[in-house]
Amino acid sequence: MKLELTLTKREQFAENIYGFWFKAQKEISFKPGQFLEWTLEHKNPDNRGSKRFFTVSSSPTEKEILLTTKIIENPSSFKKSLKELKSGDKIMAEGPYGEFVLPENKDKKLVFIAGGIGVTPFRSILKYLLSAGEKRDITLFYAANSAEEIVFSGLFKEAEENLGLKTVYAVKTAPEGWQGETGHIDGSMIKKHIKNTDNFIFYVSGPEPMVHATSEKLIKAGIKEKQIKHDYFPGYDEI
Ligand SMILES: Cc1cc2nc3c(=O)[nH]c(=O)nc-3n(C[C@H](O)[C@H](O)[C@H](O)COP(=O)(O)OP(=O)(O)OC[C@H]3O[C@@H](n4cnc5c(N)ncnc54)[C@H](O)[C@@H]3O)c2cc1C
Repeated sequence: MKLELTLTKREQFAENIYGFWFKAQKEISFKPGQFLEWTLEHKNPDNRGSKRFFTVSSSPTEKEILLTTKIIENPSSFKKSLKELKSGDKIMAEGPYGEFVLPENKDKKLVFIAGGIGVTPFRSILKYLLSAGEKRDITLFYAANSAEEIVFSGLFKEAEENLGLKTVYAVKTAPEGWQGETGHIDGSMIKKHIKNTDNFIFYVSGPEPMVHATSEKLIKAGIKEKQIKHDYFPGYDEI
């Protein structure tokens, strides 16, 4: 399905993480966790061109479509143009695509593992569950470079209070008084919070190297490959 989207609002969620809200010209049907292929025509595109995949980080229960991305210093020409979009400007998108979605069986126990910007599909899924009032057994492990780079913590708190979500934050360097974990998410960190991981489904999302490394650590910790689902974000070296 091809869509024309109109920017309504830009938000800054953290130091270099931005949200772009779009109104779709026709209704789009997607599942929480899916992504679109976005096309932003712009002058002098760099060698990576004018197309990118981005998760729909809003829930299907929200009126508008949210694209959340990390924009670093000297970004690609695509992200530079995205950041410069004004309300009323248009972008094209195609989709939805992807299997990084909730299992049909609502009793399945789930572990969500996010590395940095890889948190986007979990925002969509948890917002959806909150809107639907649907409780599932979910533990979210969310690794970020620093406490300042953590986004959507308000939404996750709401999901803790209303849905029983368990959240474990892990940062590279802990600020004073930090209550969460420090370092990479690995088997021992997971086992500290979940005693028996048999029959859980693990959803790992983030920069490609992080997703590979985390999956290997899970397998080393005895979790079976078929228990793990991946959402790779290419183009990022680290979280
Ligand atoms: C299914 C799927 C879902 C995704 N969902 C999201 C999402 O929700 N949010 C999100 O942010 N990303 C998402 N991505 C990743 C996204 O598609 C981009 O690959 C990513 O954001 C990097 O963007 P960028 O290429 O514009 O580079 P930038 O983010 O601008 O830069 C990333 C890296 O590339 C280097 N770089 C910059 N310009 C160049 C250049 N011209 N040549 C070579 N290297 C350069 C930078 O130094 C930096 O290390 C998803 C990908 C997939 C496949």
